[in-house]
Amino acid sequence: MLYDAHCHYSLLKKKYEGYFIAAVSMDYSSSIGTLSLKGENILKGVAIHPWNVNKEKIEKVLPLIEKADFVGEIGLDYKYSDSPKDLQIKYFEEFVKNSQGKTVNVHSVNSWNDVLNLLIKHDVKIAIIHWYSGPKELLKDIEGAGYFITINPSVTFQEKHKIIAENASPSIVLTESDGGYVYKGKLLEPTQIPITLSFLARLWNEDEETVKRRIEINFRRAFNL
Ligand SMILES: [Zn+2]
Repeated sequence: MLYDAHCHYSLLKKKYEGYFIAAVSMDYSSSIGTLSLKGENILKGVAIHPWNVNKEKIEKVLPLIEKADFVGEIGLDYKYSDSPKDLQIKYFEEFVKNSQGKTVNVHSVNSWNDVLNLLIKHDVKIAIIHWYSGPKELLKDIEGAGYFITINPSVTFQEKHKIIAENASPSIVLTESDGGYVYKGKLLEPTQIPITLSFLARLWNEDEETVKRRIEINFRRAFNL
């Protein structure tokens, strides 16, 4: 079994055998799509993504949290979102306050300090900072708060992400695909996770089985399984 801690699974019209997938959502309709997914080994997240906060009513999505396994993809994006910062913060805080102790799956671009401070301020117990590519100095604070980061297969060529993989404690690392998202012209899928596992095995000087086992333990902790 391989573990995908952040995947837009409802966008991929396909089944993936041998993967345990945390399926994230970006708006009301994808949240409904995620909740209707069938199959084993799928955790369901509902949310409004920071790119969509100016298009979606939060009142429609908050009641869905009760039916979900976690909250996500929520967060703050100070680079690519055309929504004002204060509206993004308002939505992020509302979701966090209504997370009912469930894990939150977080997007953070150029907003790393704000994201971390707000998670801590609202006493979030478990957060996953997905595809974390911020300052490596924050890794200690993320770890200290008891949170996780995900490593995406782009780690093999994205320099700032590679620096994170090199500096993060293995005890906070999860694998993800961000599946369903098209990055640099390529559709991301859970089947790219083995690339990350081999990369981490080389980095940590461990065999792949040991790395797989580590990631499994981290994933189970991250989602209270
Ligand atoms: Zn995503």
